[in-house]
This record gives sequence, C-alpha cells and structure tokens, in this order.
Amino acid sequence: MFLVSRRERLAWAGTVLAKVLPGPLLGRHRIAFFLRADSNLYGSVGSRNIEFRFYDLLDPIAELVARLQQQQPSLLVAPASMLRLLADLQREGRLSIRPDKLVSVAEVLDPLDQGIIEKAFGQRLHQVYQCTEGFLGATCAHGTLHINEDVVCMQKEYVDREAGKFVPILTDFSRLTQPIVRYRLNDLLTERQEPCPCGSPFLAIERIEGRCDDMFAFPSVSDDRQVLIFPDFITRAIVAAASEVTAYHAVQHAPGEMELALEVDDRHREASQSAILQALRALGERTGSQPPHVAFSAYRHAPGDRKLRRVERRFELEQSGGDHAV
Ligand SMILES: [Zn+2]
Repeated sequence: MFLVSRRERLAWAGTVLAKVLPGPLLGRHRIAFFLRADSNLYGSVGSRNIEFRFYDLLDPIAELVARLQQQQPSLLVAPASMLRLLADLQREGRLSIRPDKLVSVAEVLDPLDQGIIEKAFGQRLHQVYQCTEGFLGATCAHGTLHINEDVVCMQKEYVDREAGKFVPILTDFSRLTQPIVRYRLNDLLTERQEPCPCGSPFLAIERIEGRCDDMFAFPSVSDDRQVLIFPDFITRAIVAAASEVTAYHAVQHAPGEMELALEVDDRHREASQSAILQALRALGERTGSQPPHVAFSAYRHAPGDRKLRRVERRFELEQSGGDHAV
C-alpha cells in the first residue's frame, strides 16, 4: 500500500531492536527473531556483540526447539501464538531457555496467553505494536505500551469514549518516501486511564483489543439492527467464566452462528461450556442483543500457518449504517 525504501525498512528494524534490547547496546545479545519466511526485513542485522538469528515460523517445531536450545537467546521476539507454544513446551520440560527479555509482535496478545507465557519464562512479556505502515509503539519497563509520539501522531476516533476504546488515526511525516496523513488503522485500542509510573508523556495504551472488523455483531432484541460487541467482551465472557480454559478460538460465522473451540481438560469441559453460555446470555442482556447459537469444538492451532486472532468475525456487516457499538 505504501512504498517503503530499503533504507527505511532497515531503520525500522533498528528502531525495533533499539527499543526492545535489554540493557545497554554495548552488552552482548543473542537475539531470536521469529518471522514468516516471506519477510526479508531483518536479514542484515548483526555485529560483533549481537548474534541475530532468524527463525522461520513455518519450520517444524522440533527443529525450532533444537535451534533455540542451542542458541539460548537472551532476547526472544515472536508472535504471541509462537510464544505461547514455546511456553507450553518450556512448562512441559521439552524446552529449556532463559531469555532476559520476551517481546510479542505481529499478533494481538490475549491476556490469557500473556499470563501463561509470563509464568512459564518468569519474565514480564513486552510488546511491540506495529502495522504495515511501520513501528507504532513498545512497552516501557512497567509493561505499559506507549505510542511513539516522537515519530508518529496518533489521533483517537472514539468508539466508546467512556471505556476509552478508540480507533487510531495515524499521521507520520518522518517517512521519506511517502508521508502518511490521517490514515485510519483497522485496530481497536483501549487507552490507559491513569498515567504510567514510568513518567513517559507518550500516549499509554491499556490493551490492543483486536481488529475493528473482528467486532462481533449480535442481532438486536428491539429492532432489526445489529449490536456490535467488542472482542474484549467475548474474551472476558470466556476467560472470566471458565478459568479451566487454557486456549480458545471464537469465530462468528453469521449473525446467529458462532463456533467456539476450547482447550480444556475433559473433566471440566461440560461445566466450562455451560458457564460460557451463561456469560454470553448475560452479555446479551447487558447489550440488548441476542447472542448467536454456539457450536463447541476441540481447540487446535498450527503455529505459523496464519496470524492467530482469538476472536474473529468471518462475515461482512451489512452497510446499513444502523449498527451500533455498545
Ligand atoms: Zn510507561
């Protein structure tokens, strides 16, 4: 969509690393960077003190584990779904690494995954927020995501002002090839209510919730419109209601049809499912909507095959202009 020169891309990779490298740049770093094979962005990073290894998300997991085991990275950068898989392996004793810093990139980080990853590695999980158009922000030492307002200007188009939920509008004059002016991202962010203890004046984000077009649409109970439901509400209906669930994937296929894949011990499956149905009914009552029928299935996810979105809508909304977010 935007032309980007090689120089800009390398500068971008450098910015990411400078923001996320633990300790002074003079220290020694062993970096493990997971990406899809078709990306040629990072090939040229490396120096005497920095050992940079590229890991292809599509390589067999046994191979990735063997290489990680051998490299013993001090910095591990990967999409949340890969970090989650590595965390599971670490917990099972099939992987043994001790990174000083963990960074999640490229996928929406679900609070459920964040907790499991942080526990498995005994480290706070940091985040880099990026989009096709560039590097937008990173977490500070306190784990708060700050927008790079020294480089990009982010305006807020509020979807729910009270809850602080907004769609970012981006302007970036720092780019040499093609400045970005008032570009609307397809992301849904929640702003942080209190200032961050780190003292940074840059915009602080509580959570990247997901993509705007992954908002679920439940039929309204009072008219023929659809009520837009934030991805976060779906996440909470599942995670808060059923604490035994260790992974999930919620897909709305049609206004009246939702599929929910759950990773949960068989002993707890039935109770978890009915608790979730109850939470969805409560969500419907709160929002004046009719939750769709839920088809439960077993959870499976092959890492790397596509970006993981735990809450996903797979049909287009009718452009009636009558949809309202709650
Ligand atoms: Zn901060």
